[in-house]
Amino acid sequence: MRHKQDEGVWLVDTHAHLDFPELSGDLDGVFQRCHAAGVRLIVTIGIDEKTSRAAVELSRRYPQVYATVGLHPHGARRLSNRDLEHFERLAAEPKVVALGEMGLDYYRDRQPRPLQRLCLEQQLELAVRCRKPAVFHIREAHEDFLKIVTPYVERLQPSVLHCFSGDWDMAVRCLDLGFYLSIPGTVTYKNAWEQQRVVRMAPLDRLLVETDAPYLTPVPFRGKPNEPSYVRYTAEKIAELRGCLFEEVARATTRNAHRVFGWANDGRTQE
Ligand SMILES: [Zn+2]
Ligand SMILES: [Zn+2]
Repeated sequence: MRHKQDEGVWLVDTHAHLDFPELSGDLDGVFQRCHAAGVRLIVTIGIDEKTSRAAVELSRRYPQVYATVGLHPHGARRLSNRDLEHFERLAAEPKVVALGEMGLDYYRDRQPRPLQRLCLEQQLELAVRCRKPAVFHIREAHEDFLKIVTPYVERLQPSVLHCFSGDWDMAVRCLDLGFYLSIPGTVTYKNAWEQQRVVRMAPLDRLLVETDAPYLTPVPFRGKPNEPSYVRYTAEKIAELRGCLFEEVARATTRNAHRVFGWANDGRTQE
C-alpha cells in the first residue's frame, strides 16, 4: 500500500478506537482536526468480533484509516475454530495491518488469567499464520507476556506493545525481542516518571505514538475525550523529553509505523 507524502512532517496515530461512540458520532470533525494537526494516518483497533468488523468497515470507507482485528484480554475466551477463521478472514483484508489488540491485563483482571494466556497464544498463532504483526495490550503482566511470546518471536513479524507501561528494564527486554514501544498521551502527565524515562532512553527508531482515543487524553485536554489529532501533544512531549526537535520525532515515528505496518513508502522521502 503506498502513500504519497508531500513535504513537511506528519504523524500516524497507531492506536485509536474510531468506532467508539465518542468518536464515531463526529468522524468528519475528527478527520478535519487531524488534518489541521498533521495527523495523516490512523490505525483503528478491533477488540472483539464486532469492533473488528467495524474497524475493517472504516478502513474501507476512509483512505487515511487502517485496521487491526483481534480480541482484547477483557473479552478473553477459548477461541473456537469458527472465531479464528473469522479473524483470519478479516485479517486478509488489504487494509488490515495487524492482529490485536491481544494480550494480558492483570491490572483489571476481568477474565481468568489462564484464559487470557490461552487467548493470547491462539492469536499469536494466528498472527504468525497471517504474517502480520501483533498489537499487544499488556498491563502488570509483562513477565508472563515475555514467557509466552518469546518462543514465537522467530516466526512473528516485529510487533507493537501499545500503551507501553513497563519500566526501563522491561523496555530493554521487549526491545531485545525486536518489538516497538508505542507511547500514549499519559507521557504528558506529571507523575509519569517511568514512562518518561523509557521515552528518553529508548532508541528513536523503535518508538511509535498513539492516542488510544477516546481514552488517555494528553495534557492540555486531560479529562476530555481523546481523539487522534491529540497525538501531536504526545509527539511534542517526546521531543521535549529527548531534547530534540518535534520534526525529528514526527519523522522517526512515522517512518517506524511504515516499517511495522508494511506500508510501502517507509517515510524516507521525508528526509
Ligand atoms: Zn489496550
Ligand atoms: Zn486500545
